[in-house]
Amino acid sequence: MIKLEEVLQIPTYTGSEELMVEFIRGFCVENGFEHYLDKKNNIYVTKGKINEDEYYPCIVAHTDTVHRDQEDLILNGENITIKNLLTSEGKTKLMGWNSLRDVPTGIGGDDKCGVYICLKMLLELDTIKVAFFVEEETGMHGSKNADKDFFKNVGYAIQFDAPTANWFSQTLLGEKLWTQDFFDVVKPVLESNLIDNISKDPYTDVYQLRKKFNICCAVFPTGYYNQHTVREYVIPEETENCVKIGLEAVKSLGNKKYIYS
Ligand SMILES: [Zn+2]
Repeated sequence: MIKLEEVLQIPTYTGSEELMVEFIRGFCVENGFEHYLDKKNNIYVTKGKINEDEYYPCIVAHTDTVHRDQEDLILNGENITIKNLLTSEGKTKLMGWNSLRDVPTGIGGDDKCGVYICLKMLLELDTIKVAFFVEEETGMHGSKNADKDFFKNVGYAIQFDAPTANWFSQTLLGEKLWTQDFFDVVKPVLESNLIDNISKDPYTDVYQLRKKFNICCAVFPTGYYNQHTVREYVIPEETENCVKIGLEAVKSLGNKKYIYS
């Protein structure tokens, strides 16, 4: 079992990600998932075995946030206080609070919602790889060092990192992420989940994976809003739905390789 708030309450920002890395490592130990860390502290998890002609799907999230104002929480061993509020439509929304200074702080759904979605999917799926990269926000420094051995038998990669509940990246830094073959498989999943915002975006870790390993990649939404601000909030109902969307996408894409060409 894992709860969204359990992940969101962990303070983490670029370069000070130890608490999140430890949390993920502890989760893997507790559940008996095969995993290792590289010298950057990126975490790689493998669950299940594949046949010789098969490939692993890989899901991805990053362990940092932009919220440097959480340094005092980390130094004092305090978690982020989660405030339970309502949207104008009456949905639960979660926001972050620094109880040491009694001021708002970013809840860090970017990308702790992604971390949560990956851990939930890891519990649900029999055969999956997961990569958690450090230091994404300041220029993908974790994924620039992605372990090529881990990706040898990976067929495609999906990162959970986009805001809102309606987002699917087409390009990052002007580079296309997927081929038409890949998109044709994913399209019914997007359509049935009312995702029609096909977006051209700045960057995230799968940009590195597509370039380095020549595999099709995707970026899915995670249910956070007001990206990179102290007013950031998360709609848990949407984050949970992104888990469902992720599972549907992986089941549709299967254990195949989608070469980017
Ligand atoms: Zn992000």
